[in-house]
Amino acid sequence: MTLIKPYLRLAGLEPLVVRPETNFVNVGERTNVTGSKMFARLIRENKYEEALSVARQQVENGAQIIDVNMDDALLDGVQAMVTFLNLLQSEPDIARIPVMIDSSKFEIIEAGLKCVQGKCIVNSISMKEGEAKFIEQAHICRDYGAAVIVMAFDEVGQADTENRKVEICHRAYKILTEQVGFDPQDIIFDPNIFAVATGLEEHNNYGVDFINATRRIKQLMPLTKVSGGVSNLSFSFRGNDHVREAMHSVFLFHAIKAGMDMGIVNAGQLVVYDEIEPTLRDLCEDVILNRNNDNNEATEKLIAFAETVKAKGKEVKKDETWRLAPVAERLKHALVNGITDYVDADTEEARQLLPRPLDVIEGPLMDGMNVVGDLFGAGKMFLPQVVKSARVMKKSVAYLTPFIEAEKAENADTSQVATILLATVKGDVHDIGKNIVGVVLACNGYRIVDLGVMVPTDKILEEAQKVGADIIGLSGLITPSLDEMVHVAHEMKRRGMKQPLLIGGATTSRMHTAVKIAPQYDNGVIHVLDASRSVTVAGSLLNNDTKTPYLQSLRNEYDKLAESFHAKKVVKNYLPLAAAQQNKVPINWEGYTPPTPAFTGTKTISEITVETLRPYIDWKPFFIAWEMHGNFPDILTDKVVGTEATKLYNDANALLDKVAAEQWLTPKGVVGFWPAINEGDDVLLQHNDQTTKLNFLRQQAQKAAGQPNFSLADYISQEPGDHIGAFAVTIHGLEQWIKKFEAEHDDYNKIMLQALADRLAEAFAEYLHEKVRKEYWGYQQAEELSNEQLIKEEYVGIRPAPGYPACPDHTEKYKLFALLNAGEATGITLTESLAMYPASSVCGWYFSHPQSQYFGIGKIQRDQLEDYAKRKGEPIEYAEKWLRPVLE
Ligand code: SAH
Repeated sequence: MTLIKPYLRLAGLEPLVVRPETNFVNVGERTNVTGSKMFARLIRENKYEEALSVARQQVENGAQIIDVNMDDALLDGVQAMVTFLNLLQSEPDIARIPVMIDSSKFEIIEAGLKCVQGKCIVNSISMKEGEAKFIEQAHICRDYGAAVIVMAFDEVGQADTENRKVEICHRAYKILTEQVGFDPQDIIFDPNIFAVATGLEEHNNYGVDFINATRRIKQLMPLTKVSGGVSNLSFSFRGNDHVREAMHSVFLFHAIKAGMDMGIVNAGQLVVYDEIEPTLRDLCEDVILNRNNDNNEATEKLIAFAETVKAKGKEVKKDETWRLAPVAERLKHALVNGITDYVDADTEEARQLLPRPLDVIEGPLMDGMNVVGDLFGAGKMFLPQVVKSARVMKKSVAYLTPFIEAEKAENADTSQVATILLATVKGDVHDIGKNIVGVVLACNGYRIVDLGVMVPTDKILEEAQKVGADIIGLSGLITPSLDEMVHVAHEMKRRGMKQPLLIGGATTSRMHTAVKIAPQYDNGVIHVLDASRSVTVAGSLLNNDTKTPYLQSLRNEYDKLAESFHAKKVVKNYLPLAAAQQNKVPINWEGYTPPTPAFTGTKTISEITVETLRPYIDWKPFFIAWEMHGNFPDILTDKVVGTEATKLYNDANALLDKVAAEQWLTPKGVVGFWPAINEGDDVLLQHNDQTTKLNFLRQQAQKAAGQPNFSLADYISQEPGDHIGAFAVTIHGLEQWIKKFEAEHDDYNKIMLQALADRLAEAFAEYLHEKVRKEYWGYQQAEELSNEQLIKEEYVGIRPAPGYPACPDHTEKYKLFALLNAGEATGITLTESLAMYPASSVCGWYFSHPQSQYFGIGKIQRDQLEDYAKRKGEPIEYAEKWLRPVLE
């Protein structure tokens, strides 16, 4: 029998085990209607989608648990809690972390307990209404399997002194463990953090009382945990975030040392203790530890300091005082803040100072990068900042390289550094995500060998041997790449390779990795969600002590996932194809005259400029590419990421100005229309004197009453007179600029330009579609939609893309390209996986019928596969290969 260690074990979709060596656990506080005006407004206005993005930001910023509070007099708290938690469960990026159900009303807590999966925390119960009530509520929490926060509150009131805090917690502990049957590790105490520096002397010791009580509670009841709501502490400095953040960091620094395990904080706002300016830090320390504070002396000083911060306000824009520090400090500062202005001069100065050029890298540069890595890992720095830091590092290293090489004898011993090989698999052109992962890993001291895009298996594996890769990472964007990754894993096993294999990219998932890739290879296959995770994963894999247990626990997890996948198979009911075809989209064709396009055949679009496309950009995916989630433009003023998001947006627009003015990029497109007629699930399209048959799939899941089994073919009339359209657009000219930025060691602008080119291609598709509706097909000549409305797809008609959910067969792109002569017209080529190259390209069909809408085919059955292959006139194996993602 294995012994289960008595740790606090929580779970969202993923477990969170609070082990003795676990650092402080951040609980995200912004999803709290009493603490956040914005969140309260969103909930009151029923804007749950946006409210979820607040939760997502908390996760992005490093929250490990998410606190949800709906205690507002104007709200139906039970209903709000239930609605929000239910929505949250279906967002895997948020639901992966455990929930803390926060309310002072037990009915809200109980309603919440019914919603969450995994093991959550109840925040909180207490003895304020006596023991009987406390016991009753504790029983309920225990029955739901939740951990509880017990507030130090009894019949007399909230505990404010050290002794009362400890006594109440101990009394509650005895009741919970002896009468209710709670495991000690599931009990978390909140000994009350109260505001200090209020001007009232009796409040001055509140910080000390909490810290001391914490120490004693942890000695007396070692398995329990201590938590607290940190922002209360600085309540009297409302409106002065600078001082508040410093107070929180100083307080946590001491409270954590005393044993505080977790806290409700704004994860994005914690500053690093060591980085607080010393004057402010000392003042905070005096106030919190109640030192030098007779007659409120320390309090007065902190208040006076706070005034000066306020007065300075925005004036002190560019603080150059850091230039006065010693060179090692300056290099570190430049790295942490991503400043390239002085890199060469500072590097040279450091080189002259240190015995060997390599010492500059191993000393100040690595020190700085370690700070960056830690801050990013802790969610205190965001991706764009890290990429900027990497740029400083690379420039400095580039400056040093000739000196290092000149010193051949003592050359850099790269064999010591772990090497990670990255590649986008054969047939796929996706590059940005892989570049980002490469930069982030390089920041953490790994040597990165990036083989680029469209790399065949043989080449990946041979290079891995050649460069002595310790880890191999694969990336992919489109669905056929999933098979390619399975193939790479299979081949690694056949060749007896040993390196762990990382899997990442938009189309990949934990489930696919567990079910399809991991079983192919025994030496570790790991799905890595995002760049920040890659660092921890690489760390665990490259440490001999952690590697085996890590891989073992991962294997268990993937085995379980695979098991659940296979077990769940027949939950859904499916119709035979014929029955699904009976239930097609009901369209009243009698009363409808399809619109006639202004021309048939194709038209090449070559005179478009970047300036024309700019207003059509959808910025939200741009921020997602930089791993900053949230709605645009709200993200620019977001409390947590707003500052960095604004910087990123300004940088993007500055680059766009340049791209436009100097004509770096050339948009090219082609659009076409042809007479079309529906035939079952196919569409027969006339061009010149030929007929091309477009094949579409149909949903086969059993639908609710009144819901059709959609197929795109349904949107085309069975009578002559209807048309179908198609388009392909791309952005040319990227390569030379990418090369330039690479030569300048400027990953930041390289990734920025790639991300912008993607945006411009999508903007081109949006622009062209509007042109089609208003002019080329002309069925919405009077349309006036804002960019926001376009992004929300409020237009009439659709432009589904082959390979996307409504028409998941990528191979239909062959027909689309042939019809448009797209290769010649736009210069786009198709890879063997049907990815488009250049990567910033978009193509699709146009449907004009007002009822047409986007949908997903879902899973199809064998009978449809056979029918489809027959209709396409292709061997069933071929259809099977390309439709694998939609086959059960
Ligand atoms: N504004 C966004 C567009 C997102 S993707 C951006 O700039 O990135 C939108 C495109 O994907 C649509 O225009 C359409 O071509 C395709 N698409 C979306 N949903 C689809 C579906 N269910 N089936 C087929 N194509 C779809």
